[in-house]
Amino acid sequence: MSHIGTSPAAPPSLYAAHRKVHPRSVNGPVRRFKWAVLMALLGLYYIVPWLRWDRGPGAPDQAVLVDMGHGRLYFFWIELWPQEVYFLTGILVLAAIGLFAVTSLFGRVWCGFTCPQTVWTDLFMWVERAIQGDRNTRIKLDAQPMSGRKAALKAATHAAWLAIAAATGGAWIMYFNDAPTVTLDILTGDATAKVYFFFGLFALTTYVLAGFAREQVCTYMCPWPRFQAAMLDNQSLVVSYRGWRGEPRGKLKAEGVGDCVDCRACVHVCPTGIDIRDGQQLECIGCGLCVDACNDVMKKLDRPQGLIAFETLANIAASEAATRGMTPCKARLEAGMAVRHVPKMIRPRTILYSAVLVAVALVMLGAFILRDMHTLAVLRDRAPLYVTLSDGAIRNAYTLKLANKTREIEGYALVLDGLPGARLVAQSAQADAAGHPLLTTRPDGLTEWRVLVTAPSGAVLPQSMPVTFRLLDGAGRQVLSTSSVFLSPGGRP
Ligand code: SF4
Ligand code: SF4
Repeated sequence: MSHIGTSPAAPPSLYAAHRKVHPRSVNGPVRRFKWAVLMALLGLYYIVPWLRWDRGPGAPDQAVLVDMGHGRLYFFWIELWPQEVYFLTGILVLAAIGLFAVTSLFGRVWCGFTCPQTVWTDLFMWVERAIQGDRNTRIKLDAQPMSGRKAALKAATHAAWLAIAAATGGAWIMYFNDAPTVTLDILTGDATAKVYFFFGLFALTTYVLAGFAREQVCTYMCPWPRFQAAMLDNQSLVVSYRGWRGEPRGKLKAEGVGDCVDCRACVHVCPTGIDIRDGQQLECIGCGLCVDACNDVMKKLDRPQGLIAFETLANIAASEAATRGMTPCKARLEAGMAVRHVPKMIRPRTILYSAVLVAVALVMLGAFILRDMHTLAVLRDRAPLYVTLSDGAIRNAYTLKLANKTREIEGYALVLDGLPGARLVAQSAQADAAGHPLLTTRPDGLTEWRVLVTAPSGAVLPQSMPVTFRLLDGAGRQVLSTSSVFLSPGGRP
């Protein structure tokens, strides 16, 4: 179709201009619970690197430490080596399944109460309110032209934010370095460039995400809201508006209206700036602050609380059905409130999530309990594959690697099976009374030996024959073994 002679309509813009949200403070049980969670989580984050844990001489005494230099992760009595990184994968899988289970039961409690973005944004908003005032004062201040007072208030806010961001970046670095040492190094300018880089990076990230990006992180950057809907059903507890009770909304004294007096208190406290009365929305992080705000209004109006509540969609629908055809009056309220539906905790999806959670936890526990504290690996030299000595004997060379995850010095006799009469020499190792090389491991470390295996001169050998290296303890019991092959030209006398 031609548009000649007419002006085609402009395509709708795919971009929405950012509107700054000015959340108002609110008091109530949800808000108090959120403060308690915030303080507990921040306390844990800042204090944990300072906890000490005695692991004996030569070992770091920090309870929780990721020691990148030595390839160790310390968590109180647990010590993981790089090759045990699958435990971290298991913990991430457990966390993901746990999140699925919690979301299917209680909606977006992770987003609303415990997500770091929520916790730090809440803290930054508290600082902003403390310095610049509550919602209306801040809106007025933002609308004012720049003045000395406005500049001072903004500067104080940003200074406080930067101080929190620096503390956050500093605490993060402490999880990777000895906390007292790295703190002193940062303060005295003696820290490495790497430490300053990551300190600055995490401080800047905190400042930007909690100070400026805020709800945009949840709405545009975080993938979780996109697929968390798959975990929810109509039995999940979510923050809901009881529209059957509130609508039609109207002013307090208006006739024939519901309980919502359209005061917009629920919108004004919302950290993402949405209106929960519009229904379930991707932007709603489930923080429940609108529950407190509306309950406060209902209390003042002497009406039943719970116009906005943590409620299942099934119960909302059932309450609505019970009031169908009734006019917005006491009868409708009583009929709706009489519907009492206990959320079904045991449902196919919660059973599935719980079963997978328990299974993964048990597998991880079993793997942890049964994990080897010693591992033995052997690498055969590839160039040359073998050496023919002056007397015609064939020699192969190997590198033996023994990891000792204990803090004890241990000694083992090395024996070889599969090549009768072979001479076994481990360079830089003494021989025990029986003539076997004695391999002495260092504690909490990896020890390597170059091992030479020489077949007896004149032995008839296939081109490749399997051999087994075994480590025996002082009582002659096998502790570890590993297999390899012995190569020769083959068929030679
Ligand atoms: S706070 Fe309650 S009464 Fe006020 S607008 Fe929101 S839902 Fe309506
Ligand atoms: S709508 Fe309510 S629960 Fe959702 S983000 Fe806003 S205040 Fe929090």
